[in-house]
Amino acid sequence: MKNILTKVRKNILNLAPYSTARDEYQGTFGVYLDANESPYENGFNRYPDPYQKVLKQRVSQIKNIDVRNIFIGNGSDEPIDLAYRVFCEPGIDNVVAISPSYGMYKVAAEINNVECREVRLEDDFSLDADKLLSEVDNNTKIIFLCSPNNPTGNSLCIKEIDKIIDNFEGVVILDEAYIDFSKEQSYLTKLADCDNLIVLQTLSKAWGMAGLRLGLAFASEQLIEIFTRVKYPYNINTLTQVTVLKQLDVDISAQISEIISQREWLVEQMMQIDIIKKITPSDANFLLIKVERATELYIDLIQAGIIVRDRSRVVGCADSLRISVGTPEENVKLIQILRDARR
Ligand SMILES: *Cc1c(COP(=O)(O)O)cnc(C)c1O
Repeated sequence: MKNILTKVRKNILNLAPYSTARDEYQGTFGVYLDANESPYENGFNRYPDPYQKVLKQRVSQIKNIDVRNIFIGNGSDEPIDLAYRVFCEPGIDNVVAISPSYGMYKVAAEINNVECREVRLEDDFSLDADKLLSEVDNNTKIIFLCSPNNPTGNSLCIKEIDKIIDNFEGVVILDEAYIDFSKEQSYLTKLADCDNLIVLQTLSKAWGMAGLRLGLAFASEQLIEIFTRVKYPYNINTLTQVTVLKQLDVDISAQISEIISQREWLVEQMMQIDIIKKITPSDANFLLIKVERATELYIDLIQAGIIVRDRSRVVGCADSLRISVGTPEENVKLIQILRDARR
């Protein structure tokens, strides 16, 4: 086992967190005159539970993970930013991330004045663990991996991910935002054996709750305790906690199956369209396609009322568009327009 606490910044290890009124009195009955709230009930006059206990219990059931291994954040962006603040000394430490990948790892690095070393994936967007590990030095605190990856859609090879987790002394953050659409298993099952692993998931994609802003981080009890100390005390508002709890009872399995079958249908259709030169195999709810003159096609699609993401200026993604899987009707419309697009 790795003693990951040695990688935490000293000021964070020594931090005495803000103590909320609800930390001092934990009962549930009585007249609350302890938090300077308004006494007039309207459904949200009270501060929310800073530890999201009820919500965590539900997530614990769904994911089959102990509540002590769960951190709930304001989107995935919150645990990403917190990881920098917990582990990285600004101007001194660095992180290593795969490229192309999700833009927030780099933006959060810049905000925190931490160097982000980007390691190119291979031409087929696969991961070479040895190449990535060769960028690590004594000041590397975090490695960011994303599987299935965004904007490419492919899953990274388990053998390579394992090699990185086994051979790196710092923290590996594995972003599984799209895991619900993947044929690969989540790393949640390996959490107990890897105390330097943080798995990120989100309710923004398969669960359909992007507007509620709820990200999940799963890690050892020690790491979750430190993240909880550093976060804003009331990071998840009452309306989000209540609404998410209700929405988590919705069975999304049929929606996920439909998105996966629609993704496969889109691939079959796209393979017959000349202007599409390459379709990256996707384990996510989107496809990265390489076309002739991507930016022109992007504009044609907008004129037809379909908005996709032009990723042409992203490393390794020249002339590429990233297209989310829509409803069957939306996908038919997309294919019609791609078929008729000017050559
Ligand atoms: C969409 C996405 C997220 C989710 O971000 P939220 O802040 O939870 O909405 C995280 N990681 C990746 C790679 C994504 O594509």
